[in-house]
Amino acid sequence: MSIRFYNTITRQKEAFQPLETGKVKMYTCGPTVYDYAHIGNYRTFIFEDLLRRYLEFRGFDVTQAMNLTDVDDNTIRRSRERSISLTELTNEFKTAFHADLKTLNMQAAHQYPEATNYIPEMIQMISELENRGYTYTAADGSVFFKIAKYEQYGKLANLNPDEMLSGGRVADDSYEKEGARDFALWKGYKPEDGDVHWESPWGQGRPGWHIECSVMSTELLGPHFDIHCGGVDNIFPHHENELAQSVCATGADFVNYWLHSEYLLVDNKKMSKSLNNFYTLRDLMELGYPAEAIRWMLITTHYRQKLNFSVSRLVESQKAVNRLREFFEKLKAYAGSGQDDAQDQIKTGGESFISAMDDDLNISGGLAAIFELVRWGNRSMVEGTLSSTGAKSLIDLIRKFDHVLAVLDMDSGLTVDIDAEFIEAKIVARKAARDNKDFASGDAIRDELVALGVELIDTPEGTKWKIK
Ligand code: AMP
Ligand code: ZN
Repeated sequence: MSIRFYNTITRQKEAFQPLETGKVKMYTCGPTVYDYAHIGNYRTFIFEDLLRRYLEFRGFDVTQAMNLTDVDDNTIRRSRERSISLTELTNEFKTAFHADLKTLNMQAAHQYPEATNYIPEMIQMISELENRGYTYTAADGSVFFKIAKYEQYGKLANLNPDEMLSGGRVADDSYEKEGARDFALWKGYKPEDGDVHWESPWGQGRPGWHIECSVMSTELLGPHFDIHCGGVDNIFPHHENELAQSVCATGADFVNYWLHSEYLLVDNKKMSKSLNNFYTLRDLMELGYPAEAIRWMLITTHYRQKLNFSVSRLVESQKAVNRLREFFEKLKAYAGSGQDDAQDQIKTGGESFISAMDDDLNISGGLAAIFELVRWGNRSMVEGTLSSTGAKSLIDLIRKFDHVLAVLDMDSGLTVDIDAEFIEAKIVARKAARDNKDFASGDAIRDELVALGVELIDTPEGTKWKIK
């Protein structure tokens, strides 16, 4: 059995076969560093972390490059709003991003290319596209990619050819699928760009967002590599345009497997900065939620399913982490002298984990295999039937699983043993009392929760709670 991944471009699960035996090259679109990344962004980055860790667990030698978008429409706009230089702005959030990755126990990528360090290579790729007849230059010095010239345009995002507005053009980095048009490779200088500009054969200007990733991936992984990832909102226009640019500039195939993760939602809407419904990692940690619970919550829903953020999910996640950790600690302390060396369970547990995860990272199946082993192991320790070598073998296996999950060494020392639904019901009752001007009952509910170690925080968006 081999690993199978759902490939966005073919819209089916395919057996995974890297270009070079045993080696995987993957490019993961990183953050636009104009603000703190929110935990929706981290859902995508943690999915990529899980993917890489699982490939490593299966014995592949993985090389990962993750770019940092440090020049685009958003970064320039924000630096001007804050009256600071682009570099000052992006440095602040690059540092914050690297700190968050550590907090969430993500493996560092092998390389973090920054767009502003690759401007000559971008100019070079645009010139190559120009030489091959894929571009035209507008009056303001902007260079556009002619989508009509590339027959395969729209294949990744499954665009309907009738919807493509060939000949029309778009200068913004982001736009809707329905508005597919010739897009900017190079943007001629505008006063709003302030001091952000570079010299080019087309005059002063700056690169479009999409060319940045085509260039950095090609520079670091070569023109044709194995896996390219991002969130589903990257499929169009970003990855569609990257694909068109790269194939047309290099003549190579570009990417074999496109993997995209679904959204983290809040009240069934995408968590995003524009909707102002987002939590940063720091927000949640300030509210008392440990990074391990956040990591667990984000990896335990299959990456192609939408995930609705909720506090009760975080509490459940912490409980699951604690259960795994307690099992691990009990195994380490086990002093029983039973006869069972656990070999059958270890074999079945390992195989079930692999067969689930090989199937497009079926994490629920993988966790079911792990927790089946936890149940069996706990029982055998209570009954004293487990041998000490059995306990050692189980420790080794749990450590291997934890190469993929990466939560055991994130110990926050927190044991959550509360019922989130109960607390949320109390918050609703308190609000109803206060809406009725029954402040005494409202205060009584607050006091009851305080006695349980729960602190309420009233905010303009409603009442939040944290474990003290
Ligand atoms: P950005 O910083 O906007 O370029 O986004 C960085 C990554 O986060 C991209 O791969 C996006 O697809 C992903 N992303 C943005 N919002 C969400 C969300 N609500 N859920 C999951 N991934 C997201
Ligand atoms: Zn990208």
